[in-house]
Amino acid sequence: MPEAAIVGRSNVGKSSLINALSNRRSLAKVSKTPGRTQLLNYFVLNDGANRDPIGAVVDLPGYGFAKVPARIKAGWQAMIEGYLLEREQLQMVLVLVDGEVGPTALDLAMLDWLRSHMIPHSVVATKHDKVKAAVRTKRKRELAEKCHLEQGDVVWTSAEKNVGIDVLRSRLITWLDLE
Ligand code: GDP
Repeated sequence: MPEAAIVGRSNVGKSSLINALSNRRSLAKVSKTPGRTQLLNYFVLNDGANRDPIGAVVDLPGYGFAKVPARIKAGWQAMIEGYLLEREQLQMVLVLVDGEVGPTALDLAMLDWLRSHMIPHSVVATKHDKVKAAVRTKRKRELAEKCHLEQGDVVWTSAEKNVGIDVLRSRLITWLDLE
C-alpha cells in the first residue's frame, strides 16, 4: 500500500490530527506528555464512500525529545532517516507545524533535509483555532514564507474544531493515489 508519513516535533498535535483524520477516535492515543509516540504506528486510510483501503498513514516519532538520552535520540533519528530515505511505498511526508507557534528551527531543519534529499513533502499547520482571527491572514502568510512555500501549499487544520480535516483527507487521497 502507498504510504504518507507524518512528522513533527512533540506536542505539535500529531496524535490529535491522526485521530481527527481517522474518524475512529480510539486509533491513536493522545498523550499529554511530549515525546510519547516512540514507534512507527500505522493507520489505514479508507475511502470515505466505499471503505476501500487507499493507503497507510505512518506516524513517525516526534522530534525534539528533550528528555531522551542522546544515544536513544541518535537511534531514533537513524530509524526515521532510514525510513524516509529508503521506503519505496512512501509518497508524501507531511511536516506538521504548530500554527500558533510557527515553524521552529527543528521544523525548518526537517524541511531543508527533505528538500536536500528530494523527498516529496507538504506542510500542515495545526491548532488553527489557537490563532486569533485578527492575525490569521498575517500568520498564514508568515508561516508559508518561513517554510519557503506558497500559502496554498500549507493546509491549515484544527483537530479540536475540525477545521481543514476534510481538505487534508482529500489531499492525502490524491497523494496516495499516485501509483
Ligand atoms: P503530539 O505530541 O504531536 O502527538 O500532540 P498531541 O496530539 O498529543 O497534542 C498536544 C497538545 O495540543 C494536547 O494538549 C492537545 O489537546 C493539543 N492540541 C492538539 N491539536 C489541537 C488543536 O487543533 N487545537 C487546540 N486548541 N489544541 C490542540
